[in-house]
Amino acid sequence: MAEKLPARARAVIIGGGIIGCSVAYHLAKAGWRDVVLLERKTLTCGTTWHAAGLVRRVLPTYGLTRLAKYSVDLYLGLERETGQATGFKQNGSLGIATNPDRWEEFRRGASMAKTCGIEVHEIGPDEAKAMWPLLNAEDVLGAIFFPADGQANPADLTMALAKGARMGGVRIFENTKVTGVRTKDGRVAGVATEHGEIAAEIVVNCGGMWAREIGLMCGVAVPLHACEHFYVVTEPIAGVGADLPVLRDMDSCAYYKEDAGKLLIGAFERTAKPWGMDGIPEDFEFGQLPEDFDHFAPVLEGAMHRVPALETVGLQTFFNGPESFTPDNRYMLGEAPELSGFYVAAGFNSIGIQSAGGAGMALAQWIVDGEQPFDLWDVDIRRVQPFQNNKTYLFHRAAEALGLLYDMHWPYRQPETARGVRTSPLYDLLKARGACYGEVAGWERPNWYAPAGVEARYEYAYKRQNWFPYSAEEHRAAREAVALFDQTSFAKFLVEGPDAEAALQRISAGDVAVAPGRIVYTQWLNENGGIEADLTVTRLAEDRFMVVTGGAVAVHDFDWLRRHLPENARASPRDITSSLAVIGVMGPRSRALLSTLTEADLSNEAFPFGTSREIELGYARLRASRVSYVGELGWELYVPSEYARGVAEAVLAAGEDFGLRPAGMHAMDSLRIEKAYRHWGHDITSEDTPIEAGLMFACRLDKGVDFIGRDALLRQKETGVAKRLVQFLLEDPEPLLYHNEPIVRDGEIVGYLSSGNYGHTLGAAVGLGYLRNEGGVDAAFVSSGRYEIEIAGERVPARASLRPLFDPKSERLRA
Ligand SMILES: Cc1cc2nc3c(=O)[nH]c(=O)nc-3n(C[C@H](O)[C@H](O)[C@H](O)COP(=O)(O)OP(=O)(O)OC[C@H]3O[C@@H](n4cnc5c(N)ncnc54)[C@H](O)[C@@H]3O)c2cc1C
Repeated sequence: MAEKLPARARAVIIGGGIIGCSVAYHLAKAGWRDVVLLERKTLTCGTTWHAAGLVRRVLPTYGLTRLAKYSVDLYLGLERETGQATGFKQNGSLGIATNPDRWEEFRRGASMAKTCGIEVHEIGPDEAKAMWPLLNAEDVLGAIFFPADGQANPADLTMALAKGARMGGVRIFENTKVTGVRTKDGRVAGVATEHGEIAAEIVVNCGGMWAREIGLMCGVAVPLHACEHFYVVTEPIAGVGADLPVLRDMDSCAYYKEDAGKLLIGAFERTAKPWGMDGIPEDFEFGQLPEDFDHFAPVLEGAMHRVPALETVGLQTFFNGPESFTPDNRYMLGEAPELSGFYVAAGFNSIGIQSAGGAGMALAQWIVDGEQPFDLWDVDIRRVQPFQNNKTYLFHRAAEALGLLYDMHWPYRQPETARGVRTSPLYDLLKARGACYGEVAGWERPNWYAPAGVEARYEYAYKRQNWFPYSAEEHRAAREAVALFDQTSFAKFLVEGPDAEAALQRISAGDVAVAPGRIVYTQWLNENGGIEADLTVTRLAEDRFMVVTGGAVAVHDFDWLRRHLPENARASPRDITSSLAVIGVMGPRSRALLSTLTEADLSNEAFPFGTSREIELGYARLRASRVSYVGELGWELYVPSEYARGVAEAVLAAGEDFGLRPAGMHAMDSLRIEKAYRHWGHDITSEDTPIEAGLMFACRLDKGVDFIGRDALLRQKETGVAKRLVQFLLEDPEPLLYHNEPIVRDGEIVGYLSSGNYGHTLGAAVGLGYLRNEGGVDAAFVSSGRYEIEIAGERVPARASLRPLFDPKSERLRA
């Protein structure tokens, strides 16, 4: 190491793979001069150097696609800018479908690509063969071609980013291992290295498969686990030219890439091999793992069927290299909730090359602004639950995660590994009643109930899945009689102290200065008026509030709360999720049912909608809150965990006379979407304001408190909005909606559905999505259009409404 390490820097980036170099490049572009990148060995020596280098623009979500699209735009000009070759070329990519389900998946993906303005062609087997002459297309049903996709040389691309970063003033030190992360007063303060300390206000963990260990240096969870990833390279093959598109045969778990006249064949096999359980060897640098022909044999067999020329061509290289996978196959980006100033960009699940440009840009902006620049929830590190850093959990889940990249991306698909992590006290009770469990944030939640004689097991499909009729009955029970929902996965926080009201008033757009026993539905906004959280605040006492939000957003929302408590406020937040189970009793007969179990007066006069109080029910004392996410009369019972089973048994037994059914999350989602209740992360995000989302009824601009986001709302009220959340009901009862489907207005794509489900009461599929128009969106604009929703290439007429199509006046809720 020739140059001496500086004693201080504004930002230190740990890791010189493609991600670290991209973050450095973008910080330099943003004008940050005092940036240092530290690499333990040599740039690219971790995972980056041996990547296949495929670069796609369409990824499974709009968020991921936006970042990948940016990457391609960046890579196109990087060589010109830096003078360093990148090997990037746009030879296109071709995906083939060999069964109707995959074809539907592709066609849905094509619809999504169109919404993003990405060129895509659906082609037949003959055309695919013409494009890829070595292809055996006899069992191909259809193919999808993206002309602007391509491939790059990952090491060269990284060097170009590093060069661009250096040109912007970034100093890069190789052979400098970070051995510790320094903290002071709850903030990061710098790093320790083999060659001395660097004080820094920002530290960025771009440590690839080492990122978990680096996180552990300062108590930050970065759950990822390395897996072995294989490819082979053939001898030269006639007809394999530089412009041959990348080929994906996902049904056979394989991809094919031209590599100097040869074919590189890589695999995402169904069950992968986790690696590095005893730690990554200290000397790992440009490392390779042993060959495993037995493991790779099924892929090669499939490859010989797909490309018969392979039968007579030898293999030049068998490559096996490790890379990191995360529990949900999405990477982790952002400021760690555990430590201010410590940022993470890691866990790239085999899409690090194509994502690096966008991820680096987004993270650099996040660092510079101190706020997420746009909605990044798909990859936000605050979706991570602390338990997910558990090594055994990661070992089991990683083996599944790799395979899921190419396996069918079924709607409602549930992970099969590392299950049963977090269970409610009702778990066994409801399982005995036929519950089929799904998983969110480690929580096991009944998604639907199998009737007697039916196995509680998913049969996945794009059309109606096996549970559809059972879930429809659960839905009807909630609408016509009464249903019991296990909502224990809700996150619950207590906010206590003499300044609790003032603090929550500053953070909440609604007015929480209410009498004890009142429940306030509110949003928490950022300075742009974007919705950071969507939750209820229940006042328990003068100086005590309970915040209730979704299980999946627990870490995110708690982090927002903690960071935005006014300085020196005498208000302390505490997560009490584990102490309370939540039993939802919902439906027109809920009052009658619960009245058999309690002496409390549940009448409208004594217990109106939006109130909460402690009551005796069965043998327990619990908090009953009259709210509902399904749009019906009902109560959420907040029960100290050890009493929950007894309460549930009492409700189930008493419910027999009232037509009670246990109901699952699929039914709940169907009920809420009919009522157009928004779902944070889908329908409302940090990029959508309450005006755009139609939630101004929950905001109190005149409450006399300058809450976060208020000014932005006032400005937007003046200027009007260019998008509005609208509910759509298909006119054909047959097709299903999941989300991501394009919204078509007068023949043109103007947005996409942020959520979708079947509305069993409305009698067709329902979707929510933003209607966009630069000239503004108001009621007249909405009602003057002719609407269709595009589903796998077919356009289905739909009705659009700004008001909920089910019970627009909320009469049932207040019954
Ligand atoms: C076989 C294979 C094929 C692939 N094909 C593709 C593809 O076609 N397209 C695609 O998009 N992606 C692909 N990938 C994935 C891609 O390679 C990765 O997602 C990407 O390289 C991850 O980059 P990174 O910077 O996060 O990690 P890395 O490249 O591993 O960089 C992390 C760096 O941090 C350094 N480091 C660790 N600890 C410390 C420390 N304490 N101090 C200082 N430095 C430290 C390491 O030495 C390392 O250089 C493939 C991966 C494999 C294995």
